[in-house]
Amino acid sequence: MTSCILPAILSIEPLKRITPSQFSAFNECKLKAILQSNRTDALLPIHPSAHLGTAIHKIFEKSSGGGITGDDDFKLAWANYVQEEEAKMNLSWMEKHFVPLERSVQNYEVKKQQCLLSVRNMILPQLSHSEVKGESHTRKSEEVWLQTPDGKAGGYADAIISTDFGDVIVDYKTGSIIESGHDSSEPDVHENIQLQLKLYAALYNSMYAKWPVSLRVIGMDGESYEIQFDEDECSSLLGEACQILAEINSIIMNNAESYDMMLKRLASPSPQICRFCSYRPGCLPYWEQREVEQEIDWPYDVKGIVVDKKRLGNGLILITIMPDGQSNVVKVRGLHPNRHPVLNNSYDKVSIYSMIADNVSDNYKEGLFTTIYSMS
Ligand code: SF4
Repeated sequence: MTSCILPAILSIEPLKRITPSQFSAFNECKLKAILQSNRTDALLPIHPSAHLGTAIHKIFEKSSGGGITGDDDFKLAWANYVQEEEAKMNLSWMEKHFVPLERSVQNYEVKKQQCLLSVRNMILPQLSHSEVKGESHTRKSEEVWLQTPDGKAGGYADAIISTDFGDVIVDYKTGSIIESGHDSSEPDVHENIQLQLKLYAALYNSMYAKWPVSLRVIGMDGESYEIQFDEDECSSLLGEACQILAEINSIIMNNAESYDMMLKRLASPSPQICRFCSYRPGCLPYWEQREVEQEIDWPYDVKGIVVDKKRLGNGLILITIMPDGQSNVVKVRGLHPNRHPVLNNSYDKVSIYSMIADNVSDNYKEGLFTTIYSMS
């Protein structure tokens, strides 16, 4: 998206299938999950760590396909994939200030070294297997497509390792795997990762009429965690996923209802979920719910009439807004004019997202993720 003017409506298309990686998202907010599945352009900046995660995932794919055979290959792939992400970010008025990733991603070098170690771990088994000329009792298949017979649920498992005891489904993760703050000796793998792996197990069963012997998730540090599973639970999760798909498609295809009503039926606004949603600017139910529950801890967003805009001595902009339905003005300072195209024009009404609270009530300042849209 090159404009700072919001699209009039968000395009919402019925879904062909539900994938294991989307399942948790559908449980959180169907509208957000549909927009992600439809690949609708994000309306707020994507975190730079997520861009680096995309680059790392591509490196893992290339490595597991045999496209990286040593450290030099790794360095080249790292440079290429990071540049690819940075080129995309440079095209976005919301994200170009996060380039280079080396500066905007915390622990960039640590992540690079962890990725290198993971790639080395991937390379070693390939070498040892070829050295023993097929005498190994394991065989690894990458990016294996699994689906139900009707294709309504399906997705690519990162890898399936065949052993003498049966197949192991493996998922590689570039983000965090363990729940923070767990106090038991056994680390707790995030619930959404467990659900994802259990759905892969059910899809595997629906394709091959047998169950995998093990489900594993492997992090960037090479640490592997086993996910315990129960066959009945996996089957019922798959049934649930197919039911969700049928429900949302019937809402989307119901022409008797208005666009606004469709959004209401699909959305589940809450501070915890909406805070991390990049579709807030186009989400009517989000703004309506903020009105209903004004006291709770919503993201620092505001929309209203611009009553004043001035450039301060430091070259940054201070904007004063009369928020919709309120009597107190809100001030936002420290806005970089080169980051916010909307400030270079005279729009009457704007919406501002992801501000940072200042010391005084109703006063905010620009943060790295602050984004402004015109609503005129
Ligand atoms: S802003 Fe909230 S309610 Fe709207 S799509 Fe995103 S998560 Fe769902």
